[in-house]
Amino acid sequence: MIRAHYESVKRNTGSQASLCIVSKHRSPEEILSYYDEGERIFAENRADELVRKASQLPKDIEWHFIGHLQRNKVRQILPVTVMIQSLDSIALADVIEKEAARINKVMPVLAEFHLAQEDTSKTGLSVSQADELFAHCKDLPYVRIEGIMVMGPHTDDKERIAEVFRKAKDLFDDLKSRYGEEIRILSMGMSSDYETALECGSNMVRIGTYLFEE
Ligand SMILES: *Cc1c(COP(=O)(O)O)cnc(C)c1O
Repeated sequence: MIRAHYESVKRNTGSQASLCIVSKHRSPEEILSYYDEGERIFAENRADELVRKASQLPKDIEWHFIGHLQRNKVRQILPVTVMIQSLDSIALADVIEKEAARINKVMPVLAEFHLAQEDTSKTGLSVSQADELFAHCKDLPYVRIEGIMVMGPHTDDKERIAEVFRKAKDLFDDLKSRYGEEIRILSMGMSSDYETALECGSNMVRIGTYLFEE
């Protein structure tokens, strides 16, 4: 672990946001160095890696899935995942519903939105698809949407990043007012932009590089 970086992240997130430590490509030892500080929320973006690490590491780790999720990997990750942050289609919601029902586990998810027009390669829903997905999931007993996940645009322009994050906050507030208090998580902010995300109202940051590299 990198203590100075960890301390500044903890100070900045404070009571406003929970810290989701992005542990993709990190070794069990690196993960345990934060586990030993009391951290429990870790995130992976590949199904195989998540399942492997979950089997090797303490059982009280709360694994979040943050990568593009292929439908044929849902069955594999469901038993070891507490939240899927990357729900990006109705078809995927239906697969999660079917697999979660099979093991009788209600699955918390975040809907992933793509709000930065310039990053065309990124996955995620557009704002215009929000209602269809949220309304659809209301009828799925084993899929529980608890909020949204958003990536900032790939740029150094802080004002542009803030613009996207403010748009995300507005979307979050709107969805919450229409779909209820269950919509409670606004996951935005990574190593390079998490402070801006916090200023814009994020209540969950996903940080990897900064916590593991000098
Ligand atoms: C890798 C990743 C992060 C963390 O990025 P860092 O720059 O390493 O902090 C956050 N969110 C998602 C979806 C990621 O894939």
